[in-house]
Amino acid sequence: MKILLASPRGFCAGVNMAIESLDLAIRLFGTPVYVYHEIVHNKYVVETFRDKGAVFVDTIAEVPHGALLLYSAHGVSPEIREQSRARMIRTIDATCPLVTKVHLEAIRYAKLGYTIVLIGHEGHDEVIGTMGEAPHAMLLVETPSDVDGLQIPDDTPLAYLTQTTLSVDDANRIIARLRARFPNIANPPKEDICYATQNRQEAVRLLSQEAAVVLVLGSQNSSNSQRLAELARESGKRAYLVDGARDIDPAWFEGDETVLVTAGASAPELVVEDCIEFLRKRYGATVEARVVRDEEVFFPLPRELRDIDGHRNEANELFAG
Ligand code: SF4
Repeated sequence: MKILLASPRGFCAGVNMAIESLDLAIRLFGTPVYVYHEIVHNKYVVETFRDKGAVFVDTIAEVPHGALLLYSAHGVSPEIREQSRARMIRTIDATCPLVTKVHLEAIRYAKLGYTIVLIGHEGHDEVIGTMGEAPHAMLLVETPSDVDGLQIPDDTPLAYLTQTTLSVDDANRIIARLRARFPNIANPPKEDICYATQNRQEAVRLLSQEAAVVLVLGSQNSSNSQRLAELARESGKRAYLVDGARDIDPAWFEGDETVLVTAGASAPELVVEDCIEFLRKRYGATVEARVVRDEEVFFPLPRELRDIDGHRNEANELFAG
């Protein structure tokens, strides 16, 4: 068996920053540190932090008055910030700056009187947060046929935005349908699907051509990981999204094929290494590292942690066992 190890894969700059923020908050302020929703959509990361004393909540009502709360990489709506203020909760905002960029675009278009079509997945934490910036001015579409069903008067100024972790191809199909129906629709100067999502998809698109099977490390609720597996399947490959080596079914392999291994933006490198070790032991797999694009993106810690004297640990090292 030959493993093609895709690069870039795994943690992006936003996930690194969010994980390092939570680690630092726990070390500086002690536990519990509350986290609104999962810090990132990865089972292994969430369980590791739960063991360290993080408490993940889905509502602000679960956070005691005056406690410390961290907002996850996916961002929150203004309503959630308001609820926190009302309970005198101390907050650290670990929203990825590329998600914040989409929030700011939503605010800007709404102020200018636009109706905003957000392309995204209903119920995703990021979509809920972004829609919350201008709830009366935003409409959500998930598919090209949703575009056909939009009821918008002809003279309405329109703009579109997208969730950061969409499939580039799916988003382009929906944008094409929007442009066909609404030729004057405005869009932000720089596209919203983030660099990490695009680069991981590009690597799978190129490298899956050489593989019979594609293994994507990531959790089922991770949007960008799901998109990687879908992309591989669209190229006619068998693709599996797994949290770790324990989820691998040997029936997926003949034992002598080429397997592309990659990881979504929220999956730690440790789970990639475990899978490689499994395939090495069972099938004598050899590894060929394939770099499709270099990534050198880095986000500073949230304002609330930046001025405090605390050593920033590299996120992947926190899961190195
Ligand atoms: S996937 Fe993109 S938008 Fe999401 S946290 Fe990473 S860099 Fe930010």
